[in-house]
Amino acid sequence: MKVLKFGGTSIGTPERMRAVAELVTREPEVVVVVLSALSKTTDKLLKIGAALQSQNVDSALAHIDELYSHYQQYVNALYTTEQGRKQGWKAVERHFDLIRGVPRKVFDNREERVLVAQGELMSTAMFHHYLQEQGVPSALLPALEFVRLDDNGEPDLNFLRVNLTRLMQEHPPPVLFITQGYICRNAWGEIDNLKRGGSDYTASLVGAALRCEEIQIWTDIDGMHNNDPRYVKDTYPIRELSFDEAAELAYFGAKILHPSSVQPAKQFNIPVRLLNTMEPLAPGTLIADKTSGSEIKAVAAKDGIVAIKIKSTRMFLAYGFLRRVFEVFERYKTPIDMITTSEVAVSLTIDNPEHLEDITRELREFGMVEVDHDQTIICVVGDFVADRPGMALRVFEALKAIPIRMISYGGSRHNISILIHISLKAEVLKVLNDGLFKTHP
Ligand code: ADP
Ligand code: ASP
Ligand code: MG
Repeated sequence: MKVLKFGGTSIGTPERMRAVAELVTREPEVVVVVLSALSKTTDKLLKIGAALQSQNVDSALAHIDELYSHYQQYVNALYTTEQGRKQGWKAVERHFDLIRGVPRKVFDNREERVLVAQGELMSTAMFHHYLQEQGVPSALLPALEFVRLDDNGEPDLNFLRVNLTRLMQEHPPPVLFITQGYICRNAWGEIDNLKRGGSDYTASLVGAALRCEEIQIWTDIDGMHNNDPRYVKDTYPIRELSFDEAAELAYFGAKILHPSSVQPAKQFNIPVRLLNTMEPLAPGTLIADKTSGSEIKAVAAKDGIVAIKIKSTRMFLAYGFLRRVFEVFERYKTPIDMITTSEVAVSLTIDNPEHLEDITRELREFGMVEVDHDQTIICVVGDFVADRPGMALRVFEALKAIPIRMISYGGSRHNISILIHISLKAEVLKVLNDGLFKTHP
């Protein structure tokens, strides 16, 4: 069994959705197809939500009308028969009834999550009806019945396994399974999601729950590149990455993969292949339990970082100080990304500033606290074997003209992280490209 996930651009036009249908029906094995919303739909739904939150109903209605006519055109072009068009549109229109019907006076985050879930519900319904029209037996499995977050906001893999297996058994083979990426229920049973880009995470969770043979992430580029192609020209695909290398790159900003999406695959040692829908025969990237061994593999950048420095003479020769600092972050469920220490100060970074005020208030009890916003973590990933000298030097040689706020090296053998101001990001990605990869053919 394989899990195949297709992102928004892979189904962004009716032609692309038809190409995806052809691709998945060619698979000889049982496949579970995980779909994102059509490209730009999630952004549009969030815009509608933002307009409603600010009581701007006219703007929300204008966005809804635009989305509606986009889907009308899409459906008209997708199906090949009148009957198919009718059925497909019926399935889509239900969701527009819901979108138009969301309460406007009391629109809150909960309503927003319901609104934004309609994207994946529509794309999967359209795809399912298209397969039916083409005579391909398919079953639409509701992700809201098997992807659930626990009290800590973490996906419950056991719940997923039991419920997904049960739902799949209701459909005798041969059948092609389709489900929604990104959306889930939270511990209170409300509709929720796995955060932006979360369909990759759904695919990995489903693959892990079913202990499938391979997870394929189909997107608009031929695999994980050595640098961010949105900022740097002449990047190239990396053919092989270990789970750890891929996890670092995803976590530290390589948008091609959701930050958490490698972990479930790694846990059950399921290979993940990153493939290009526009070029299905390109080899893409294989993420597996091994590395091809080359030294420095890739660079990624993660924005929206806040750096916090705590300076305290009480830290000098003291034990237990860091524990007390970490406990503050634990109380506010705020993960720490990077950390560096000196005898009298500790600097660390977070990417979720939701509780920043409370956190800094508590930290001030230990000493002086400084906060820097608009920071970016640049992460250099590779196999940094400690006894191979010169690798860090190559990184810092490339960065010799760049003011660096923090450096983290040696935390794992796969990562050197540096913290810079966001305004330097494009430049840093370029100089690292020239300094680290210019020898690549
Ligand atoms: P999808 O809609 O298929 O989920 P995404 O837009 O989420 O696609 O991810 C693919 C995009 O990620 C690429 O088009 C590319 O611009 C961007 N990207 C950023 N960093 C990398 C990288 N290191 N390798 C490949 N793609 C990357
Ligand atoms: N549709 C969601 C998003 O745009 C999830 C995804 O694409 O993976 O973030
Ligand atoms: Mg994505």
